[in-house]
Amino acid sequence: MSGRKFFVGGNWKMNGNKDEIKKIVDGLNSATLNDNTDIVVSPPACYLEYTKGLLSPKISTAGQNCYKAAKGAFTGDLSPQMLIDVGADWVIIGHSERRNVFGEGDELIAEKTAFALESAVGVIACIGEKLEEREAGKTEEVVFQQTKAIAAKVTNWDKVVLAYEPVWAIGTGKTATPQQAQDVHAQLRKWLRENVSESVANSLRIIYGGSVTGGNCKELAQSPDIDGFLVGGASLKPEFVEIINARG
Ligand code: PEP
Repeated sequence: MSGRKFFVGGNWKMNGNKDEIKKIVDGLNSATLNDNTDIVVSPPACYLEYTKGLLSPKISTAGQNCYKAAKGAFTGDLSPQMLIDVGADWVIIGHSERRNVFGEGDELIAEKTAFALESAVGVIACIGEKLEEREAGKTEEVVFQQTKAIAAKVTNWDKVVLAYEPVWAIGTGKTATPQQAQDVHAQLRKWLRENVSESVANSLRIIYGGSVTGGNCKELAQSPDIDGFLVGGASLKPEFVEIINARG
């Protein structure tokens, strides 16, 4: 056993309204959830406080993004302080949709990660290669570069979870095999050991994201370096409970 607590995050992306959120939360609140799993759901920011108000205290909330300043002239954005003010304990930073739809680069993602951590919100930091990068044999080069940018700005890793999410697996129904995911997670841990520290390599939770479902979660959860999941589509469905309980 690694000693790392299993962590499952549900990224609702730009989905849901009050009625739908109430149904999802009712389902989670009435389910039997493994006490050995940290559970986080990430609704759209405008529903964070509403969701928090409905959720069992066993389940934390996360923002899906934030900026690298506490306040100011940044129209349309929000700060980690604001997320904390409405009850969030975590924020997702560097999701592939932020990187690829909104053009966020490694440097900005690293700065936002550092600022969120200084502001006392935990960070689910996302990395992952595109299909053409995997096919060109560049998976490790890409994820090491993304992790290096983050590592250059992070001094305390206690409130960081690293989410390996191959872009080709997100929302596509194409899941990485347990071996493919385990291989990258093990390489990332090795990179952390060599470039950050032995203790961060041993304690940092590295979670997998990319078309995780009730059907494939148990097998993925067996891998020694997979410490949980970041879940998109299936986190809006009743099968999210099976994913939370994947470690049994
Ligand atoms: C995600 O959005 O982080 C994700 C992994 O999505 P999906 O589970 O739908 O592939």
